[in-house]
Amino acid sequence: MESNNLERCDAGVFEAIARERARQEEHIELIASENFVSKAVLEAVGSVLTNKYAEGYPWKRYYGGCENVDTVEQLAIDRAKQLFGAEHVNVQPHSGSQANFAVYACALNPGDKILTLSLQNGGHLTHGHPKNISGMLYGVSHYDIHAKTGRIDYDQMALIAKAERPKLVTIGASAYPRAIDFKLVAEIAHTNGALVLADIAHIAGLIATGLHQSPVPHCEFVTTTTHKTLRGPRGGMIMCKKEYARAIDSAIFPGTQGGPLMHAIAGKAVCFSEALKPEFVEYQRRVVANASALAGQMAANGYHVVSGGTDNHLMLIDLRTVRGNMSGNDAQVLLERANITVNKNTVPNETRPPFQASGLRLGTPAVTTRGMGVEEMLQIADLITAVLKSAGDEGVIAAARHRAVEICHKFPLHY
Ligand SMILES: *Cc1c(COP(=O)(O)O)cnc(C)c1O
Repeated sequence: MESNNLERCDAGVFEAIARERARQEEHIELIASENFVSKAVLEAVGSVLTNKYAEGYPWKRYYGGCENVDTVEQLAIDRAKQLFGAEHVNVQPHSGSQANFAVYACALNPGDKILTLSLQNGGHLTHGHPKNISGMLYGVSHYDIHAKTGRIDYDQMALIAKAERPKLVTIGASAYPRAIDFKLVAEIAHTNGALVLADIAHIAGLIATGLHQSPVPHCEFVTTTTHKTLRGPRGGMIMCKKEYARAIDSAIFPGTQGGPLMHAIAGKAVCFSEALKPEFVEYQRRVVANASALAGQMAANGYHVVSGGTDNHLMLIDLRTVRGNMSGNDAQVLLERANITVNKNTVPNETRPPFQASGLRLGTPAVTTRGMGVEEMLQIADLITAVLKSAGDEGVIAAARHRAVEICHKFPLHY
């Protein structure tokens, strides 16, 4: 087989990938859940491990020929344990959503009650949204974000936990800019007889490097994705206390998945080894410093930054307070024309339907991986401001796009 097979055999896919590489190269990526993996991770994910069936767990498989993938999965498990100080790790979830569903399958029976943060307030679909299986199978109640402070209302969480006596409390978010007090949530849950699932999909990189409080000592279950701040391949992972080890493993296989994606697990192993290095701590520090600089400059430019700033890698901009009251969707579309990629997001006290939304979510993991720093964050905030104030004027947008591409070329991706 030749290395240029894809180009020769499938021009459609080959060319779309080439165009996607160029898009990534020439756009300022501010989607908070995205990142750029290392070449080593990419190589592992594109390896022959994709050919292997390995139902089961290392050294206990239902298939022959597993000695090499056993080594890979064990490396991933050992490194993840070291990185997070976890008692037990399962690296097989195909995604963050699969990881969450397996925890539900392990901890709950259909009809049991869960207490969560709603999608609209920054939570995740898998935290009991009515159109997600979690919302169909379980009795869901929600704690809220304080409309004024933009922070999780822990007092309300305690009151609802006491009144509802849920079996599981989930804590973790996709669009929450502030530090989370996992220890306090665990106290509230345990006092009221509930277990805790901490979903650290977004902030896993910060937690792995000690820049955010870890839920691992306090919570029975911790789930994460591996592709957000952790900067690994797309995928999920579950950590849990020893007493739940067997139940979690069987909730993944055979409970909710078949064969593991061994190429993705190899990518996770490489990612964890990278995350154990001192350079990764430095990277996460720069992610946080960049987010803080971007939020500061957006505020200086007159935007309402929800909760007044950020403690982590992302921020929410509430557009309702600026001239014109632009929707998040309109802002996203305008910025896309200037090669700045963001996503619309609902904000606390949302007044629009989710597909319009009144806010933007901006995150710094991807631009920081490219090597951009505080100076670029200030320039990017000013570009965003110019574009949003342009009223769609093509001259203004073209100038911003030109500048955005210039910044990108200064920090190439090296793929
Ligand atoms: C991204 C995310 C997930 C799910 O990840 P997928 O890999 O897209 O399934 C779960 N929980 C939270 C809080 C997330 O942000």
